[in-house]
Amino acid sequence: MRSHTRQSASVLGRPLAPRGLWHRALGRVSLLLFVAMHLACLLVIVYPPTWPLVLFALGSYVLRMWAITAGYHRYFSHRSFRTGRAFQLVLALLGTTAMQNGPIWWSAWHRRHHKYVDTADDPHSPLIYGFWYAHMMWVFDPKNDQTDLSTVGDLTRVPELRLIERFAWVPLVAYALACYAIAGFAGVVWGFVVSTIAVNHAVFCINSLAHRWGSRRFDTPDTSRNNPLLAALTLGEGWHNNHHFYMSSARQGFMWWEIDISYYTLNLLSFLHVVHDVREPPAWCRDPNGVRPV
Ligand SMILES: [Zn+2]
Ligand SMILES: [Zn+2]
Repeated sequence: MRSHTRQSASVLGRPLAPRGLWHRALGRVSLLLFVAMHLACLLVIVYPPTWPLVLFALGSYVLRMWAITAGYHRYFSHRSFRTGRAFQLVLALLGTTAMQNGPIWWSAWHRRHHKYVDTADDPHSPLIYGFWYAHMMWVFDPKNDQTDLSTVGDLTRVPELRLIERFAWVPLVAYALACYAIAGFAGVVWGFVVSTIAVNHAVFCINSLAHRWGSRRFDTPDTSRNNPLLAALTLGEGWHNNHHFYMSSARQGFMWWEIDISYYTLNLLSFLHVVHDVREPPAWCRDPNGVRPV
């Protein structure tokens, strides 16, 4: 088994996240909060769906799914495009509202996934640990309490990212309050609770289903798959075999018919000069008969 180093980082000499009970409760999303949010979905009985509420939930889903795919995944984890410090902060804050912890935690575990994919050191390999563990239980496994920060030095050296990491629950609570301000308790139930759980499971499906269900264009040394349904649900992340083959590309749908909403929006933001250096896969990757140059 390959060895790895786990270490702690600090915010001005203090731990990255509070230790002990506070760490469990506030440092990152706990199993208790996760279960409570699922149970709270039953409140749709008290606040039945109306078109405005469903559209509100959908908008909230798309906004935060985008924050995870374009922000946490393609920017913070893979650096597949560049942007200024202000928009980087926007991406970090928006990402935390999806209840998937801070960008440093997310990127550290995701980089680990790529580094050790489908081995015992991969935190969420369905091949090694089974479907449900890979889907979500790995997040709450005490053995994963310590995040390996040795691969995210580019993120931990940014003070505002360390601060967001430490207080990732603040934007999450603020988002719930904003939903209340917009549409009352019904807004919290649909725009926050239901929408957040939907975002979480759709993203988790990339760790579980996208390593089980779909086609393989590239013969990668892992079980990654391309799946158009998952790509539609996750704004482009379902082209997971493409992604594992060429992970530094901001474009994951390599072919024109592989719909990749996150990539299209990044192109739009590039046109508006908000982001730049949006990385593409090499041309031969986009040729159905392409052969990798030797
Ligand atoms: Zn994967
Ligand atoms: Zn990735």
